[in-house]
Amino acid sequence: MEFPSLKSWFEGAEHYPFIIAGPCSAESEEQVLAIAAFLKSTGNVNIFRAGVWKPRTRPGTFNGVGVKALKWLQRVQSEYNLRVTVEVASPKHIEACLKHGVDVLWLGARTVSNPFSVEEISEALRGIDIPVLIKNPLNPDIDLWQGAVERIHAAGIKRIAAVHRGFSPFERTLYRNMPKWEIPIELRQRIQNLPLICDPSHISGRADLVPGISQKALDLTMDGLMIEVHSHPSEALSDSAQQLNFDQFSSLMATLIIRQPTIDDKGFLNQLEELRNQIDSIDFQLIELVASRMNISKNMGEYKFKNNVAVLQIERWLEILRTRTDHGTLLNMEPAFIERLMTLLHQESIRIQTTILDNLKTSGDNWSEE
Ligand code: PEP
Ligand code: MN
Repeated sequence: MEFPSLKSWFEGAEHYPFIIAGPCSAESEEQVLAIAAFLKSTGNVNIFRAGVWKPRTRPGTFNGVGVKALKWLQRVQSEYNLRVTVEVASPKHIEACLKHGVDVLWLGARTVSNPFSVEEISEALRGIDIPVLIKNPLNPDIDLWQGAVERIHAAGIKRIAAVHRGFSPFERTLYRNMPKWEIPIELRQRIQNLPLICDPSHISGRADLVPGISQKALDLTMDGLMIEVHSHPSEALSDSAQQLNFDQFSSLMATLIIRQPTIDDKGFLNQLEELRNQIDSIDFQLIELVASRMNISKNMGEYKFKNNVAVLQIERWLEILRTRTDHGTLLNMEPAFIERLMTLLHQESIRIQTTILDNLKTSGDNWSEE
């Protein structure tokens, strides 16, 4: 599969890193135009983004203003000379966007999670020459992401970029969506030359975390960033915590360290560096998982105190050891290694529970003295 580089997408797309910015949702004509005026003035932005139909996880939240916002985006094009992109989730959305001259379409995470929708959309796109951005699916399923790229490509679309926006965690984590950097890195290995853009806003979920994720994406030589920017983030009708205000966007642009990809590496890291990045990403996830395990240990400590149960229960420990070494063996790991690893985790868990018990006992004594 051949994919043209972002630079060649249209005239004026040379600016590196390729920046797509704008509000999560188009809310009013004034809001859209004020944000576009600001973004144009920075000189950093390749494409203006705004959600018109919003896919919401829970009902009863802002669904977007719909077709009428497409007219506002036409003013962004004519008055600020910016290209515009909109999320599409159905052939009807595509038809409306094409009628209003939207320059670039994007498929959201929820849409990419459903191969039926991607198939329907690729049929609607057949024979049309428009760039398409494809976000990763909600779950960390690289085949689903790759499949969406292949389906859209097979419909004849050549200007495609993948957008990494992180993966829904079950546990609460620092980030709204887990970056799992090893997945976009692998996608780039599987589909060479596919432009890759990071969406630090949806990964972070919090404006203050956006710069760190943006820098990380550039360090991994991703080609661009899709960033949510709002004139008054606290009043935004969707994703208010993660949108940058104008000052935050300007300071991000000023502080990003940009490693211009050389012609030699074409923006790709060497194999060893790619593997190190995958290991780094997995290590951070390991630490987050261990932290969730320790939190549960803490809750168990409290429960054991209330119910007067001993901290160490030997049958439970033997069962843990047996089931974990069996599972490790299935994955071709040495039983002795799994045993050492589990012992280490177990010791820390016992330490935490013992501390909790001691603290609760002390505070109980204090209380009874009163
Ligand atoms: C968005 O970009 O506002 C959006 C809804 O993104 P995602 O599909 O990544 O959740
Ligand atoms: Mn959003």
